[in-house]
Amino acid sequence: MKVLVINAGSSSLKYQFIDMETEAVLAKGLCERISIGGCITHKANGKVIVKEIDFPTHKEAFKAVVDCLTTGEGAVISDAKEISAIGHRVVQGGEVYSQSTLITDDVLKAAIDYSEIAPLHNPPIVTAIKACQEVFSKDVPMVAVFDTSFHQTMPEKAYMYGIPYEYYEKYHIRKYGYHGTSHKYVSERLAEILGKDIKDLKIVTCHLGNGSSITAVDGGKSVDTSLGFTPIGGVVMGTRTGDVDPTVITYLGEKENLTPAQMSEILNKKSGYLGISGVTSDDRDLRAAAEAGNHRAALAGEMQRYGIKKFIGAYAAAMGGLDAVIFTGGIGENSVECRSGVCKDMEFFGIKIDEQKNKELTGTEANISAEGSKVQVWIIPTNEELAIARDTKRIVEAL
Ligand code: ADP
Repeated sequence: MKVLVINAGSSSLKYQFIDMETEAVLAKGLCERISIGGCITHKANGKVIVKEIDFPTHKEAFKAVVDCLTTGEGAVISDAKEISAIGHRVVQGGEVYSQSTLITDDVLKAAIDYSEIAPLHNPPIVTAIKACQEVFSKDVPMVAVFDTSFHQTMPEKAYMYGIPYEYYEKYHIRKYGYHGTSHKYVSERLAEILGKDIKDLKIVTCHLGNGSSITAVDGGKSVDTSLGFTPIGGVVMGTRTGDVDPTVITYLGEKENLTPAQMSEILNKKSGYLGISGVTSDDRDLRAAAEAGNHRAALAGEMQRYGIKKFIGAYAAAMGGLDAVIFTGGIGENSVECRSGVCKDMEFFGIKIDEQKNKELTGTEANISAEGSKVQVWIIPTNEELAIARDTKRIVEAL
């Protein structure tokens, strides 16, 4: 079985085409500038093919993907019929979808309904799925894999906010959590590496990228996570605030006379490392600026590491123990300084990393704990696409 995995945004579409017999990636790529131009970068057969093509909508982008997969130097199949199934990443599945599911009209309707609580994420995904359905034959089954599903195991005490209960009932305001596919993948991968039953492990998974979240995974289940109702709470991120006292928002709105949309723009796109440093949302650039003496860039980095450290402590307390910490995502996998800063002075807690391993093994799947560290510290590169492809295969095979 060959599965096409799609991760769609409002103006972009990432894809991977995976042979599920070997789990090898046959091709991968990115369509960019959808609706404002168009460019596809397709990688396959050791080649990188870049084409400027007009993409008025996602439909033209999907056609370009099929074209690249089936013709020319980057072709890996001779007919689109060899695409057995398509797996779509869907950000918000609400309280209904605690598992990945076959996409039906009802599922699409639910994803549209959930747009209200994921306004930046769900609408472009629904648009992309509809475009995909137009391009591919009705016989190609499509599966939705939700970022929120893994966190549906959180207990009520962890997912409820301290606001009047009626707002939960009326508007479904609660913590949903995100990056679930990644947290599930890396925690299960660690159990596999250690040859242990995941039921016996208490793990804190740190997915640190442009968006970041920390999750308490107890016995293979998410019991708490740092992102909430929308992907903005928890630790400070590239352009998102992380947790703030809610009154900051009403106070600032009144002072600056901001509409809710303007406020949302500030909290989601102008805050975090970018807002604090004033120069960048990118962790590498932030570090370079800090090294060049920029105090605010250094401060943003300190806030990043301090915030993550606090969540690790909190989640160890929540689980009543800790066996391992996992770092993943662009920053978690690659930033030596981030891992080092987070784990600094945590020996009292049973966490001690080997600084040399931390440097030398960066970006790889590796145990970076120092000898005798009670808690194991691991770097595990995430593979959300493979996790989506595996779920897609499982669901399609059961049809
Ligand atoms: P997204 O959340 O968009 O999937 P990624 O997981 O790709 O993001 O992470 C992007 C972040 O990872 C950026 O802040 C980038 O600077 C950081 N990053 C990528 N490579 C490195 C590296 N070698 N060292 C430090 N940070 C890195």
